[in-house]
Amino acid sequence: MKTKIEPFKIKTVEEIPITTVQEREKYLKDAFYNPFYLKSEQITIDLLTDSGTTAMSSKQWAALMDSDEAYAGSRSYYKFENIVKKITGFKHIIPTHQGRAAERILFQCFDVKGKYIPNNTHFDTTRGNIEYNNGIALDLLNENGKNPAFHYDFKGNIDIDKLEEVIKKYGAENIPLSMITVTNNSGGGQPVSMENIRKTKEVLSKYGIPFYIDCCRFAENAYFIKKREKGYQDKSILEIAQEMFSYADGATMSAKKDGLSNTGGFIATNDDKIAEKARTILIVTEGFPTYGGLARRDLEALAVGFEEVLNENYLEYRIGQIEYLGNKLLEAGVPIIEPTGGHGVYLDAKRFAPHVAPEFFPGQSIANEIYRISGVRTVEIGSVMFGKKDHNGNHIAPEMELVRLAIPRRVYTQNHLDYIAEAVIEAYKNRDNLKKMKIVWEAEFLRHFTVKMEYID
Ligand SMILES: *Cc1c(COP(=O)(O)O)cnc(C)c1O
Repeated sequence: MKTKIEPFKIKTVEEIPITTVQEREKYLKDAFYNPFYLKSEQITIDLLTDSGTTAMSSKQWAALMDSDEAYAGSRSYYKFENIVKKITGFKHIIPTHQGRAAERILFQCFDVKGKYIPNNTHFDTTRGNIEYNNGIALDLLNENGKNPAFHYDFKGNIDIDKLEEVIKKYGAENIPLSMITVTNNSGGGQPVSMENIRKTKEVLSKYGIPFYIDCCRFAENAYFIKKREKGYQDKSILEIAQEMFSYADGATMSAKKDGLSNTGGFIATNDDKIAEKARTILIVTEGFPTYGGLARRDLEALAVGFEEVLNENYLEYRIGQIEYLGNKLLEAGVPIIEPTGGHGVYLDAKRFAPHVAPEFFPGQSIANEIYRISGVRTVEIGSVMFGKKDHNGNHIAPEMELVRLAIPRRVYTQNHLDYIAEAVIEAYKNRDNLKKMKIVWEAEFLRHFTVKMEYID
């Protein structure tokens, strides 16, 4: 059959608010033209993030009821540990309440102060936790990954030559660990190839540097390897994931992504000393090592989620959804990052609204307009989120101006995607009317969450 269907049927439904343009114009004004201030009851389709917004399956809800809430030695923990070990092969599995807790603990264990930690692209919380511990986060993305319109199968790959250069320049003793993020969230959800992971391992072993994978979307990455990399067509997602992890010494995970659950995470490592340190910090700051800040029922939901995410029918539907939406937009001429990645479609705001210069926040203007037209909430990833100022107060723009349409897992149907595409295409057709914006108030750190904005007439 040609028609691709959602590989599930719906047992519980949640009503979504349907609002009018007039209402949404008022909501936007009340939200200071920052979609982060919008309330759920004002949002028809929420594409702010794919993190923790997954719809759980009937099996996960059933597992939740069957949990063992023991403080220590809970059977729910052992189910969780068992499946994570099966997938990753790592010796120590340490649960955390979400990904950034795993990162915080890992960088405390490695004592990163004054040292360099390379990655393809650090996610903002990863970078934040390194810098908070006075380390230096290095992004070594391959050049192909930086060009939005350029087609390349593995735009998430780390630049191996640059990695080796960096090691020679700073010395292996100043690089306590090196990372790779799969898929590369900050770079458009683009995958990393097995070859790239293998070569990274080769370089790092030569210099004795530990290798950790930020594996939030390991299953989506494995699916791309199966579809695009030679020699993997006949392997299962589990086998591909196992091979990916076999090259690493450990991993950090936000299970709010490919754990198919609403919260959770873990640190995994083969290093006994790191594990011992991590468990000590965990007990002081998160909880006992058999729950790590999670309710045991969450570990149950995760144990089932990690099984379900390996299902190829699910991944085909998941990646297919993103591609479907991306293709609809491309057919209408809307500029996006190509090819589409794993968890969302990224609009290229520079080409979408070339008349709005980066210092006037084109991505924010587009995100507001899409919401005004349709009630679809998206998020700017550009000058609002990453813009800086020089000594004279002039705007320094990041490399790309993007609007992310992150697709929650198993939540929206193809009709919802058609509605989203219609909204974006309408905003694009009327792009000449997109207005410049200015910031009227901002916080000192991570300003995008709470920034207040206005249009410039
Ligand atoms: C979400 C995410 C994190 C952080 O995880 P949280 O659960 O949000 O704390 C780290 N790295 C990547 C690549 C992510 O996508």
